[in-house]
Amino acid sequence: MNERTGISGLKGIGEKTEKLFLKIGIKTVGDLIRYYPRGYDVYQEPVAISELVEGETQTITGIITGKVQVSPNRKMPVTSAQIRDKSGTIKAIWFRMPFLRNTLLNGEQITLRGLVIRKKDGLVVEHPEIFYPCTKYEAKLNTLQPKYTLTKGVSNNLIIKAMKQAIDSLDLKQELLPEELRMRYHLAEYNYAIRGIHFPEDKDVLYHARERLVFEEFLEFIVSIRKLRTINDRLKNCFQIKHCETVDDFLKHLPFQLTNAQMNVWKQIESDMMSEYSMSRLVQGDVGSGKTIVAVLALITVACCGYQGAMMAPTEVLARQHYESVKELFEQYQIPFGIELLTGSMKAKEKRAVYERIEKGKVQIIIGTHALIQDKVSFNKLALVITDEQHRFGVKQREAFAEKGTCPHILVMSATPIPRTLAIILYGDLDISVIDELPANRLPIKNCVVDTSYRQTAYRFLAEQVKLGRQCYVICPMVEESEHLEVENVVDYASMLQNELGDSIRVDYLHGKMKQLEKDEIMNRFSKNEIHILVSTTVIEVGINVPNATVMMVENAERFGLAQLHQLRGRVGRGKYQSYCIFMSGSKSKETKKRLEILNSSNDGFKIAGEDLKLRGPGDLFGIRQSGLMDFKLGDVYQDASILQKANEAADWLIKTNSDYLDYFENEEKNASVIL
Ligand code: ADP
Ligand code: MG
Repeated sequence: MNERTGISGLKGIGEKTEKLFLKIGIKTVGDLIRYYPRGYDVYQEPVAISELVEGETQTITGIITGKVQVSPNRKMPVTSAQIRDKSGTIKAIWFRMPFLRNTLLNGEQITLRGLVIRKKDGLVVEHPEIFYPCTKYEAKLNTLQPKYTLTKGVSNNLIIKAMKQAIDSLDLKQELLPEELRMRYHLAEYNYAIRGIHFPEDKDVLYHARERLVFEEFLEFIVSIRKLRTINDRLKNCFQIKHCETVDDFLKHLPFQLTNAQMNVWKQIESDMMSEYSMSRLVQGDVGSGKTIVAVLALITVACCGYQGAMMAPTEVLARQHYESVKELFEQYQIPFGIELLTGSMKAKEKRAVYERIEKGKVQIIIGTHALIQDKVSFNKLALVITDEQHRFGVKQREAFAEKGTCPHILVMSATPIPRTLAIILYGDLDISVIDELPANRLPIKNCVVDTSYRQTAYRFLAEQVKLGRQCYVICPMVEESEHLEVENVVDYASMLQNELGDSIRVDYLHGKMKQLEKDEIMNRFSKNEIHILVSTTVIEVGINVPNATVMMVENAERFGLAQLHQLRGRVGRGKYQSYCIFMSGSKSKETKKRLEILNSSNDGFKIAGEDLKLRGPGDLFGIRQSGLMDFKLGDVYQDASILQKANEAADWLIKTNSDYLDYFENEEKNASVIL
């Protein structure tokens, strides 16, 4: 068996399971072993019942007291038992397991591990795992159990079983990293790392396994970036770009003045495009700093000089939003250029018409999604390609976009603030500009961190804001286990909220599994204020701009990385109204509260992530992804900044000692998908 073997080659995986695995992207045994856990359960020492904390998964050991009860509800029988230890008693409940009545006996000692929640009559352990006799738990004490992202029909246990088999029976891949490099950076061997990431004996093993895999992931990425730089190095400018008066006109008419930072960055861009060499520039600016308008100036300039310019966004919603707002500006100020939208969900016929207009040069400005880099699209004198929310794209996509023209100017935009040292590594092939100033009319966002008892008050607050004419986002509680549940969850939450608030307030929802057209329609209606409150998963995180929205309420805020919460927060405070963020935490623990309070103290995304890391022990680092920046599979640019630095050094070393470094990872199939 090797990595290319289909997973049906594993025992116990038949045709049906094979199909289910395909849903989570696993086709081969190699895919399986690279399907890393999303977190680990740690089987910790049992806690005294009186010390249990709401909202956390904990273990207790105690005596079953009294008779085990089963509720009469046939469809969903609930079994409940009272557990007592020296410090107190607590109720434990199980769903659909009435047979427990016969196995859990009065007076026996038992260990339970589960989520502690608050019900009407006090704390309850919900659907806990049962260890009976208690020695079964002792055997697992302090071990780490992998938790995988699941889908309907694929349970954690199923993945674990398949994974064990795969790792045991597979001739794992040969070591890729040279021995010398591994020694220098104290990196674990590949085989050890793969086993360790799935089935770590303890935190130490996990730490080393993960470090090794993250290192390799970063190294691959950096090597591909270096390659890009060698190719792009100082390409001659192939276009005649000059200062365009339409831009001055346009700026004069805008209802606001560019901030100094915007103006400086625009000047840099303009002078790049007019210089002897082709532009390759990254514009970094925190959420709401006004990057779009700067991009629009660049687009107008190339159009003015008789060329085409294109801008690519990571989602259809965002692409459409850019398109609509640019179109409106152009109509308003009579900017005489054709503009076109191209997205994957458009009908084939529509697309063909757009392809033709692009190819014949009938439009000058094209905005779209990945659809822009499809083979069928050919441009006509494409002089500028802009990638918005760059961190959502892979290097390969950026490359493919640039290849649509003949050495076009390249502009990429990112809202994720990272320190210069890291930016130079991650965007080694680009010059960097920063918009480090927010428009002056912005009021600082007011934040509050609250627990679930505040929920009703929060709803009243949402209602008040809607009465004032404003709009709100609510990020739903998370269900990590399954995408299927996620959908149900968003829908249920929205209808609950609608009931709660009454018919005069229009609540609707958005989630990742919706068809593109549906998503667009919802976003459209939200931006027209036909929807007052939008319940959503984190799909809303990227780039959306509805300045009238003033409240962002995040349920289960404790489960998010702070950097991600910061991005969510960036969806409000984008206009002239006072805006608010409500971070609702399902956990009462002091640490969680302290962590979330960091958001209050700063508006600087990177600083926030840094503080976050300081507060959390290394053991906590495996569950929450900090940034989602660049979608590395395991690595996290914030959290693993030091590994990133080392991988960068290693890339230097490779280049010096191994002239074939460019092809170093080339034979690796997975290289193609570095960060797609
Ligand atoms: P981001 O940098 O997050 O992409 P956008 O470009 O979407 O931000 O801009 C956010 C909002 O701020 C938009 O509504 C935009 O019209 C507005 N805006 C941009 N620049 C300024 C400015 N200098 N003064 C006031 N408002 C501005
Ligand atoms: Mg933006």
